[in-house]
Parts: sequence; C-alpha cells; structure tokens
Amino acid sequence: MTDIQELLLSRIRDVADYPEPGVMFKDITPLLADPAAFTALTDELAGIAQRTGATKVVGLEARGFILGAPVAVRAGVGFVPVRKAGKLPGATLRQAYDLEYGSAEIEVHAEDLTGGDRVLVVDDVLATGGTAEASLELIRRSGAEVAGVAVLMELAFLDGRTRLARALAGAPLEAL
Ligand code: AMP
Repeated sequence: MTDIQELLLSRIRDVADYPEPGVMFKDITPLLADPAAFTALTDELAGIAQRTGATKVVGLEARGFILGAPVAVRAGVGFVPVRKAGKLPGATLRQAYDLEYGSAEIEVHAEDLTGGDRVLVVDDVLATGGTAEASLELIRRSGAEVAGVAVLMELAFLDGRTRLARALAGAPLEAL
C-alpha cells in the first residue's frame, strides 16, 4: 500500500449496521475533516481526470458532490451534478435503475453535457455499481463520451466492477 492509500484508509471510519443491519457503512467525514487527507484525495482524483482527458467531472449525489467539485476545480474542468430525480429545475435526462428492493431514478441537466465532452464520474463508494451504471447511461444518452469512473473505495465483494464493464466500454474504473 502507498503512503497516500494508508493515509486515506486511516481516515475512513467503518460503522457497523448503518443505515441498516448487515451494512458496514464507510464514513468519509473524518477524511473530509483532515485537510492533508482531503487534499491528497483531491489531487489523486484530479490526476485521474487529467490522465483520462476529462472535460467534465460528474459527481453523484451526495458525497460525489463533496469529492467531485474540488477535483473539477483542481483539474480545470467543469462540474456537473447527477441528482436524485426531482431536484434539478431545468430540462433533464432521467435514468431509472434497480435497487435491492425497488428502484430509483437519477437526473442530469441535459444542457450540461454535450457531444464534445469526455466525462469522469466521481463518487466515494462503489458498491453494487447500480448508481454508477445509471450515470454512465445518462452520459451516453447525452452524446458525451465516458472518460471513466473514479472512486475512493470499491467494495470488491459486491462486484460492481463487473456490472459496470459494459457501460464503461473499455474506459477505466479506478478505485484509490
Ligand atoms: P451502489 O449503487 O450500490 O454502487 O451504491 C453506491 C452509492 O451508495 C454511493 O453513492 C455510496 O455513497 C453509497 N454506498 C453504498 N454502500 C455504501 C457503504 N457501505 N458505505 C458508504 N456508502 C455506501
């Protein structure tokens, strides 16, 4: 493990049985409160944005907003929020996806992503991959290209990586 990985890992708090029994919640608030760790994380993710030639960073509600916005500024590209349905005031593209029980919908402002864009999706945790997969579908439908997905943590036992493979179409999935 690199020094940066050790620093980041040391600032993630495991909370058992939250928000429901059986879930080990990965709480990133200690990392956000530590300026050295938050800066290191931002720099790592911004490096991925630059290496993948991203022209936009998409952040997934809600922790993807906290991580993605400084990454976009550091990388010198725009930030675009992908929100839960019903929160964006303008014309949107909307995408439904399956949850363990039921389904959910996410949206993006249609005018924020265009045919010339290459888009890096940023979030804190990749779990089943359902949210990220739906966001990649929104990007594809907007006409923009997928630069990749970058997350702080991948819960490998849930195999979101396999679920994302088709939507990534060869673009990288990087988990710090
Ligand atoms: P998924 O769509 O299953 O990949 O879930 C991803 C979303 O749920 C991300 O936006 C995460 O912030 C959140 N999430 C899922 N599992 C966890 C976990 N164990 N700890 C913290 N956040 C999680």
